[in-house]
Amino acid sequence: MRLRNIPGSREAIAQNRWCIQETEHIKGQWHTIFGNQNPIHIEIGMGKGKFIMALARQNPHINYIGIEKYSSVLLRALQKMDAEPLENIRFIRMDAENICEMFDHEEVAQIYLNFSDPWPKDRHAKRRLTSHQFFERYQQILASNGTVEFKTDNTALFDFSLEEVKEAGWKLDAFTRNLHQDNTMMEGNVMTEYEERFSKMGNPIYKLIASLPQK
Ligand code: SAM
Repeated sequence: MRLRNIPGSREAIAQNRWCIQETEHIKGQWHTIFGNQNPIHIEIGMGKGKFIMALARQNPHINYIGIEKYSSVLLRALQKMDAEPLENIRFIRMDAENICEMFDHEEVAQIYLNFSDPWPKDRHAKRRLTSHQFFERYQQILASNGTVEFKTDNTALFDFSLEEVKEAGWKLDAFTRNLHQDNTMMEGNVMTEYEERFSKMGNPIYKLIASLPQK
């Protein structure tokens, strides 16, 4: 998701109380930030935050962190937070390539990836958030019983992701090529902004759940 650059958005984010700066040495200290020991779930590439804010409303005993690369996009989520403050969410503006600098070993209980950018050129494959290079990063921060949940409407990206789960040595717990017709996997589903848009257009939504290799 790219929005027109909003002048001053970087500065607005730097001063926002819901935003943690990439430069802060927060790794291993998220429970102090939230002031409790509740589990931490993250969404990488959260866009304007519809999905993660809905989850935070539903689950006050889980802490959520939304990660987004672009200030202009993140700013939209922060504006929603001003209208409806949720104490169990924080945001980071960063490229997820650096995620291991923000979270300690096993600090994250759950990772959500929704409608991640497809990076269709082969030479950009390692930038896809479901590449084995990213699964290696997730392995460094995810708790041993944690999972990665990924939704998309992009067939090529989904096929690639299934392969990469295997390549990374992760376990494929479940998958569907038509989430909205799959009663089991649809249970408790929270729609993302892109999911709403693409399912209205008639696109099937794919989903996979993967867990860490057993030691
Ligand atoms: N997850 C939202 C949804 O499902 O409605 C937004 C999907 S949008 C297609 C993908 C988002 O991921 C964009 O806002 C983009 O800026 C962000 N993104 C892509 N690569 C990223 C990265 N490496 N680190 C952080 N955010 C990233």
